[in-house]
Order: sequence, then structure tokens, then C-alpha cells
Amino acid sequence: MQEYDILIIGGGPSGLSTALHLARDFPDLTSRILILEKARYPRPKLCAGGLVIDAEIILQRLGLDVGEVPHVDADRIHFDFESKGINIRVPKRHALRVIRRDEFDNWLAIKTKSKGIEIREGVTTKNIIPYQGHVIVETDQGDFRARVVVGADGSNGVTRRCVFPKVPVHTARVLEVLTPEYNVIARSVGCDKAISTLIEKEIVSPRRHGDASGKNTPRNDEQRKGAYFDFFPVANNIAGYVWDFPTQVNGEMMRCWGIYDTNMLANEKRPQLKDPLAKEMSRFGYDLEKYEIKGHPIRWFSPQNQMSVPRVLLVGDAAGADPFLGEGISIALGYGALAAREIGEAFQQNEFLFNGYKRRLLRSALGQVLIARWIIAQIIYSFKWKWFQILVWRILKPVVVLLAWIFILNWGKRMPSTL
Ligand SMILES: Cc1cc2nc3c(=O)[nH]c(=O)nc-3n(C[C@H](O)[C@H](O)[C@H](O)COP(=O)(O)OP(=O)(O)OC[C@H]3O[C@@H](n4cnc5c(N)ncnc54)[C@H](O)[C@@H]3O)c2cc1C
Repeated sequence: MQEYDILIIGGGPSGLSTALHLARDFPDLTSRILILEKARYPRPKLCAGGLVIDAEIILQRLGLDVGEVPHVDADRIHFDFESKGINIRVPKRHALRVIRRDEFDNWLAIKTKSKGIEIREGVTTKNIIPYQGHVIVETDQGDFRARVVVGADGSNGVTRRCVFPKVPVHTARVLEVLTPEYNVIARSVGCDKAISTLIEKEIVSPRRHGDASGKNTPRNDEQRKGAYFDFFPVANNIAGYVWDFPTQVNGEMMRCWGIYDTNMLANEKRPQLKDPLAKEMSRFGYDLEKYEIKGHPIRWFSPQNQMSVPRVLLVGDAAGADPFLGEGISIALGYGALAAREIGEAFQQNEFLFNGYKRRLLRSALGQVLIARWIIAQIIYSFKWKWFQILVWRILKPVVVLLAWIFILNWGKRMPSTL
């Protein structure tokens, strides 16, 4: 049986961030960490790849420049109800940086390895068995013994299921679709030039799609730089939104569309999840049926979520992502910073109960943001009536922007930077 002091299960943003923060703040532990990752980099990960400013702040503090990863910058974020609402810009910078997760996670794994941290790829963890003095980790390539295990294995992770087998989980349903950019749709459906021109005219023709107010008109060049969240599905008992982000795949400009549903209105009568997405995409000339739809759950944070047992900590989606928007990359990076501190102090004190981990999280800037977003999700998705959504997204704009700035963004700066 192989022995390590710290075994991290999962090499996504939360696991890699935990390792990078340990290496920065507790360098003596660096050679005592092993990350077990079931896939091999660059591996696919279903995700729209929207990085908020806080992710960039946490990475910068680790000495990393995410600008090295191929990306597309959205210069504004729209929070809409039926195409009208709030438009958020961040002064002198992009509002959202959009990466592809295969590229981002591969880059982060390379940075992690460059710090001397071992990552074993292609190893699937099957079982976690905590004992008093250590934890046994059973994998498809033999058993490991560790003093501390970090469950960074995502929403469906085995770690959480092993240490909290009977605890109910809150899980959002999410669908995602990649399409060509707005004005290259005709090319994607393989039309000849004449038909292609016709389709493009149809797609960009305001006559077909909308009125002079701009409602239902296709997005122009300026608008293409935006990232859109539209909460219109809430009125139909889908407690979430449809998104439309600019992105790139192998250097080619694309759009990433998707729908997020917290499942908070699961007891009500709901349309099929893909229906609102199909409706929104059709406004821009896309037929959802022509594209590959992929789905994956997101486990979201609730103050009731359990996050540790003696010698085992959960981070990232395993512990709980943002319930309001399902945003989880910056959150995963933030969990890594807090878990590293908890683990480093545990080794200093030779005490591995991790009783204070959840308290540390809830008192941190990340924990406060997660609680705030949990409350916001309860309000926005329970008061599902159209008039309420219009009030929030269109009439109370200044209040909502202020609350968003305080509670949704800008928490990364308030996280402790170094020891
Ligand atoms: C459709 C969709 C769109 C999203 N869009 C966004 C977005 O735009 N912006 C944003 O911030 N968040 C987004 N998210 C959420 C984001 O993807 C997650 O919150 C984030 O990936 C969490 O990181 P993590 O490290 O906790 O888990 P993951 O990224 O899921 O990483 C877990 C890792 O563990 C590995 N693993 C799993 N099981 C095992 C095992 N048994 N043994 C070994 N290794 C294992 C996996 O291979 C993976 O590498 C989206 C999610 C979905 C589903």
C-alpha cells in the first residue's frame, strides 16, 4: 500500500487550487501531496467556462496569469428578463473571461506539476474509508493510505458519497450546447451560397425577428461581445436561466448556450428543460435539434451541507457551488485556498479533526458570498411571478447592480492572500 500525507481526489480547479495553495503557504508539505485524477489532461469537462474577476484574482495571487489560456472576453454581462434588463460593465476591463475547460484545467495542472506536486492521471478512486489514524483510498490501481484526504471530485464525486452516504444533496440540472457564431450559422448547416445568403438575411432581418424596440432582434456585432443571462424560464417553474456566451473552440469563434435549473421548483409542473433553451436559440435562428446537447448536474451550496469528517475535507462542487447561477470555477479556487490553510494548520498542530473547516468557510469572504447567493436564489426563484422578475431585472436596476457588486462579484479581494 502506498502512503502519502495528503491525497487529493480530483484534479479540477478545486483540487489543483488546494495543492497550489498548500505549496505556496506550506512548502514543506509540497512533496507529501499526491493528486489522483481519473482522466488524462487535456480532458473534456462540460462547462461554459465563464471566469469572473474573483477567479482571476485568486490565480494572480498564486502568481498565475490566466491570460496564457486561450480565451474570449465578454465586455459586459446582461441579466435580463425576456431580453430586457441590466447591463453590467467593469471599468477598464472585461466583465467575463471565457475559457474552455480542457485548456484551462490542463494549463492549471501544468502549473501545479511545475511546483513539484505529483499528479497521477488515469487513476479512478473507488472508495474512501476513514479510520482513526488514517484514511484508506481504494482505486482501480491499488490502495493508498493517507493522513488527510481532500474530496475535489466534483458534483458526482465518490468522496462525498463515501463519507456522507445518506445525506440529501441539492443538485441543479444543466444543459449546454455549442454553436457557431451568430453570422456563420448558414455555413454550419452546409448551404450553398445562394441559400446561405438567404438564411443570413433571414437571421439578421429585424422584420422577421422583432420590432423597433429591439425586442426579439438578433444581436449585432456590439452585442456579440456580451454574455447573456435571461431569467424568463422562472415564470414557467424552471428555477434558473438561459445563458448565451461568446467562446472559442480551437481558435474559432463560437457561442456557448445553456440552461440552468436549481430544481427549487421541482414540485411544480415544468416544461422539458430543453424547451426554453430551444425557444431562446430559435430567436437567433438556431435550431437546437441540430446541435449536440450535453448535460451534467451541479451540486450547490446550502448552509446545511456537510463539508468534513475527521481527516477528510470536501472542496469545490463536492462541497457546493453557487446556487444562484451555478458558477463554480472561482468558488472552487476559493475553496482550495481555505482547505489548504485548514490542512496546513492541522499538520502544524498534528490534529486532523477538521471540526472548524465549515466555520472557517462560512466566516470567509467566499462563505459569505455563498450564503448571500443562497438567499438570493431562494428569493429570485421562489417569487417566480413575471411581475416580480420584471421588478427585479428591469425596475430595481441600481439596487440590483449594487447588490451584485457586493454579493456576487468582488469577494476574491477579501480572501486572505498569504499567511
Ligand atoms: C454545463 C455547465 C456549465 C457551467 N458553466 C460554468 C461557468 O460558466 N462558470 C463557472 O464558474 N462555473 C460553471 N460551471 C460549474 C463548474 O464547472 C464547476 O463548479 C467546477 O468545475 C467545479 O470544480 P471542481 O474542481 O470542484 O470539480 P470538477 O471540475 O468537476 O473536477 C473534478 C475532477 O475530479 C475528477 N474525478 C471525478 N471523480 C473521480 C474519481 N472517482 N477518481 C479520480 N478523479 C475523479 C474529474 O475527472 C475531474 O477532473 C458549469 C457547470 C456545468 C455542468
